[in-house]
Amino acid sequence: MPLLVAAQCQSELAHLQALIDRPSITPNDAGCQPYIAAQLSRLGFEILHLPSQGVANLIAWRPGTPRLAFCGHTDVVPAGLHWQVDPFTLTEVGGELFGRGIADMKGGIAAFLTAIERALDQGANLDGLMVLLTADEEGEAEHGSRVIAEFLARQGKLPPWVLVGEPTARRMSGDTLRVGRRGAISGELILSGKAGHVAYLQSRENLLHRAMMLGAELCALPWDQGAPDFPGTAFHLTGLEHGQWLDNVTPGKVTLRFNLRYSHHTNAELIDQRIRALMPADLVGELSWSRPCEPYFSSFDEQQPNFLTVVEKAVFAGLGQFPVLSTAGGSSDGRFFRAHGAQVIELGLPNATIHQANERVSKAEYLRLIAIYETLLLSL
Ligand SMILES: [Zn+2]
Repeated sequence: MPLLVAAQCQSELAHLQALIDRPSITPNDAGCQPYIAAQLSRLGFEILHLPSQGVANLIAWRPGTPRLAFCGHTDVVPAGLHWQVDPFTLTEVGGELFGRGIADMKGGIAAFLTAIERALDQGANLDGLMVLLTADEEGEAEHGSRVIAEFLARQGKLPPWVLVGEPTARRMSGDTLRVGRRGAISGELILSGKAGHVAYLQSRENLLHRAMMLGAELCALPWDQGAPDFPGTAFHLTGLEHGQWLDNVTPGKVTLRFNLRYSHHTNAELIDQRIRALMPADLVGELSWSRPCEPYFSSFDEQQPNFLTVVEKAVFAGLGQFPVLSTAGGSSDGRFFRAHGAQVIELGLPNATIHQANERVSKAEYLRLIAIYETLLLSL
């Protein structure tokens, strides 16, 4: 029997409930940021709303030298079908908390907000703490964290440490930290030639044959293998289109589509050069790129005091084990802050159900995340 959390008045879930109940489907903020701003303002934070092209962005800070920023997004993907509960009402069923965005990533935001309250109650010095939120992460991410990071960097106010509250865990909050992400880019190669009748063509004159051979060469192109702490570059064909099909005619135009996930050992320019170099001189091709996301990677070797050590200790206190460091998964807004020199670590809830129907996390893991964030804030 589902329990609407509202009826229980649980203060530890109050912020989570307030955020889940606001249906903030990208790029709509649906009042999430004003709610958070009101809470933070009450806790001594200064507030700046920084909208860009209709996207809501929030910068909140405690006066003082910038030390740590918590970064996140208030937008969620659409609910879709097949939910057992209302996706926009926080609901508890058998120890699990349900709601769209609860893992990705309103749970992380609400947990951090709760942790701030608890840390301040214990007299923590949170001067220089920032909270940076956007409602444009699940979409194109053009007018969100990128704008916030550029704004802060221009003013020399970007903190050296950025904690991203994305759901990075496998089973238990904090079991995995992300310290980097591969880059991503999509390519489209349009090959043009003459359509022909199969009865009068040589194999080499068939544009579809040529496109498939080129596709095989693209697949066989060797890329960097990465390193123990970072996965290598991978190429995937994602589409082959040739227009209307006729059983005895070869196409005059073929489009190959592909996507690359790439490590910080390469970049979009090198990828473009290597793929252009494969193009046969006698083929007419037009190559274009879309949805570029730069990779990022934080290394902590020489840094003192060490952000990674501080985070690992907080995880150990809440989880009883040290986290695994990972750079797997899709891209994240962490890249925009890393690009301006901040050390970036992603630490959040288990991600098993993100973007799915019945998105949920166990209440125990939500409470664990609050405890980890609280320890982190107390150790600043
Ligand atoms: Zn997310």
